[in-house]
Amino acid sequence: MNEILIIGSGPAGYTAAIYAARANHQPVLIEGPQLGGQLTTTTEVENFPGYPDGVEPFQMMDDLRRQAERFGTRFVSGVVTKVDFSQKPYKVWVEDTELYESNAVIIATGASAKYLGLPSEETFRGRGVSACATCDGFFYRKKTVAVVGGGDTACEEAMYLAGLCEKVYLIVRKNYLRASEIMQQRVLNNPKIEVLFEHNTLQLTGTDKVEGADLIYRKGEADEAVKHIAIDGFFLAIGHHPNTQLFAEFLARNEEGYLLTEGVSQQCLRSDKSIAHGIFAAGDCCDPHYRQAIVAAGSGCKAAIDADKYLKTL
Ligand code: NDP
Repeated sequence: MNEILIIGSGPAGYTAAIYAARANHQPVLIEGPQLGGQLTTTTEVENFPGYPDGVEPFQMMDDLRRQAERFGTRFVSGVVTKVDFSQKPYKVWVEDTELYESNAVIIATGASAKYLGLPSEETFRGRGVSACATCDGFFYRKKTVAVVGGGDTACEEAMYLAGLCEKVYLIVRKNYLRASEIMQQRVLNNPKIEVLFEHNTLQLTGTDKVEGADLIYRKGEADEAVKHIAIDGFFLAIGHHPNTQLFAEFLARNEEGYLLTEGVSQQCLRSDKSIAHGIFAAGDCCDPHYRQAIVAAGSGCKAAIDADKYLKTL
């Protein structure tokens, strides 16, 4: 049996591993489908403290991994396909076959940004297509970008980008913004932001990187029209979905699927809101608000400390 099992290899998972390993718990970290997590879909990380010159995401994740390895973390490549958290020891299956058992599990499975599903989005992923303005906005200083979405995230991203860019289009599929009133007012009053209501994206255009987008206005209506905008960056802000479906049977989640934790701790709750002793969550799988690598790393640290304390009570 393993002392601490960690699921996920983003900043939360690796940080949990560093702390768990240094506390002598010899953690096993199951890497999951995307080694290094969401961060590896961005081009450069400039806002993680400790890297004054910025760092390539793969380099940063490799640094975190080596730090975790140095203190004795064991890594398992593979995807968790099934769990049984009904009783201790908790059971976690990798690829349906390999079984891992532990009294303490840290879930750090992250969240995935939603994309529109356009083939051209895939073509330009990392070359003008991004789902994180805070991560990538800096690369579009004094340029023209578009943000898709009409919620609070889209409005926040548009405002953030308006502080850096020459012009920001906000592409909204309905004829209104769903965002809070105050965010709507900020966006609508910002001279750098042009809101394109009732527009949908047909495709992105460009050769090596994004150079434009073809949009359709009021598809299917009498005044339907196609519009082309010249842009350097295309930001998705149509929501995220936390990677927590696997745990739905055993743990409490909010209506969007984020795992619920107890108070300021990383302690998970069961569906009836009782404490799920020995099960902890860290990073974006339990954070609908901040979604930053440094915050995820901080919560990974907290989860490992919580797990250490819990194991000492057994
Ligand atoms: P939301 O679900 O609130 O909004 C998603 C937006 O994306 C909607 O405008 C939706 O359009 C649009 N959208 C969804 N799918 C598509 C698609 N395929 N094509 C085009 N547009 C699409 O997500 P958010 O991430 O904005 O917010 C999530 C939660 O977090 C909300 O409760 C929000 O209030 C909260 N939040 C709060 C903040 C704050 O208080 N500072 C900051 C950020 C988020 P439609 O309206 O037509 O459905």
